[in-house]
Parts: sequence; structure tokens; C-alpha cells
Amino acid sequence: MPGHIIDGKAIAAAVRADVRRDVDAWTAAGNRPPYLAVVLVGDDPASAAYVRGKTVAAAEAGIRSDTIIYDDVSEDRLLEIVHQLNEDDAVDGILVQLPLPDHVNESRVIHAMDPNKDVDGFHPQNVGRLSIGESGFVSATPAGIMEMLRRSEIQTEGRHAVVIGRSNIVGRPVSSLLLRRGIDATVTTCHSRTRNLPEISRQADILIAAIGRAEFVTADMVKDGAVVIDVGINRVEDNTRERGYRLVGDVAFESVRKHSSAITPVPGGVGPMTIAMLLKNTLAAARGDYRL
Ligand code: NDP
Repeated sequence: MPGHIIDGKAIAAAVRADVRRDVDAWTAAGNRPPYLAVVLVGDDPASAAYVRGKTVAAAEAGIRSDTIIYDDVSEDRLLEIVHQLNEDDAVDGILVQLPLPDHVNESRVIHAMDPNKDVDGFHPQNVGRLSIGESGFVSATPAGIMEMLRRSEIQTEGRHAVVIGRSNIVGRPVSSLLLRRGIDATVTTCHSRTRNLPEISRQADILIAAIGRAEFVTADMVKDGAVVIDVGINRVEDNTRERGYRLVGDVAFESVRKHSSAITPVPGGVGPMTIAMLLKNTLAAARGDYRL
């Protein structure tokens, strides 16, 4: 029987409803609504669309947000803005939409952020906490993957999770999360230098693909009964569509589904989880959940 399709949209809607309930409880207790400051630099339409999606979702969850938009900005000015937002007690979460223009050093901007407002979980202090098993802000996509596994009641303890990809945004943090006590997977992280990748991926009880290559994971790379989480978002040319392309994941969905016990689609899988987890992080920032 083909694998169960994990419905990311439905799971994300449930997370968002939970956040809304918790925000209402927070404000009913006399607190002001959580506030997220978003900084968007440049004219990348994809970034602008992501930011719009985030702010609409924030409003639906009862979270206030504003977007500071710059056509262009110097690194010094951007650092100044981050410092101002750090100092502003009315701001709970700060999100600087990446990528930034080439003349801005992303790492410097991330380091400048108050770790207690770092709802993207990119600050080294939050990354460090994650790697030593402490709680802190975890970037939204890997956090969303874990939430999906949990809400889909997928067992992780003692199971072999193979992650393809070692980026700071997805591959590394999701590997760290899978290793956590209470999750207890046995984790293998693969990358472009990994030898015999299909041999390794075929050992996976849980296979997570975060590669950025359309339909890279084929049926022969997947063990029967595996759970397959497809993080990739890739455009492939499609002249039957008005916009001239369609989105596909890193997994050849139809053929891999036949082998899997459960699989996430693209779109409608991991993608919607990302925004839901950002909202959860913003509420955590307002409540000071991770302050030491
Ligand atoms: P990166 O390009 O930063 O990382 C890709 C990783 O894949 C690298 O570690 C790279 O290895 C590895 N890789 C590349 N080619 C191969 C190969 N042939 N064999 C094995 N490993 C390979 O991408 P991201 O992690 O940022 O994103 C991955 C995908 O996920 C993209 O499609 C992106 O659009 C999508 N994404 C989706 C999100 C969502 O909300 N659903 C959020 C973030 C990303 P090496 O390190 O050796 O170069």
C-alpha cells in the first residue's frame, strides 16, 4: 500500500490554532500581544512573498508585526537597526529575512541580534544550546519537521534517521534535534561528499531530504516502510502551467511513496510548518521562555 501522505497544511493549521489559543491566554492575563519586527532588504520577490505570508499568519494568531522594508541598506545601518530593535522593550522577536544583499555580512547581522529575540534560531547562542541539548530558539523549518513527526505519532526512539544535507538552516539543526533525549534517534547526516549515499539512505527508517535538487531521492534509495520527509522546494519548468513552472521536492514523490509508510508532499508538507513554528517562537520570545 502506498505511504500515508502527511498533511503539512492541516498540521500547521493545528499548530497555529494552538498558538492563537496561547496568545489569547497570554493577553487575557494582562500582557500586551507579542510583537514581531521583520526586516526585509532588497527586492527579491520570493523574500517579499515569504514576509507577507509571515505577517498575515502572525495577525491571524493575534501577534502584532511590522515590516521594515529597505530597497538597499549599508551593513552599518542594518546593524544599527538591529541594535535599536534589541533595545526596544516593545519588540519581542526580530526576524531579518535572508538572504541579504552581497555587501552585507549575514553572519555579522545574526551575531548582532539579541539571542532572546532571535525567533529564527540562527544566533550562535541558540545554535549552541541546541547542540548541547538545552532549550532555546530552534529555527522554524527543523522545528516544524519535528512537530510533524510528533503530531503524526511517528516513533523516533532507536530508529535510524538519515538526513541528506548539512546546512545551518535545515540539515544540521534537524540532525541535532533527532539526537535529543526524548527523541533518541540514531542519526546519520549526509552531504555532497558522502560516499555510497544510496546504500546509507536505504538504511533509513526516517529519511529527511534537504538538498535543493529536484527529485534527487529515487525509489531505489528508500527502504520499504520508511518515513520520508521532503524539505526541498525546487522549480521545474512546466509549460502547462500559466507561470511556466511547478514546484517539486527533493524526492521523486510518486515512486518513493510506493515504498514508504508515510511521506510529505511538496507543496503542502514541510513548507506550511515553517511559518507556524515562527509564530510559536514569537510567543515564546514574548513570554521569555528561554531566558536564563
Ligand atoms: P543548502 O544548499 O544550504 O544545502 C544543501 C545540502 O545538500 C548541502 O549540505 C549539500 O552538501 C547537500 N547536497 C547537495 N548536493 C548533494 C548531493 N548530490 N548528494 C548529497 N548531498 C548533497 O540548502 P538548504 O538546506 O538551505 O535547503 C535545502 C532545500 O530545502 C532547498 O530546496 C530549499 O529551498 C528547501 N528549504 C525549504 C524550506 C521550507 O520551509 N520547506 C526552508 C528551507 C529550505 P554540501 O554541504 O557538501 O555542499
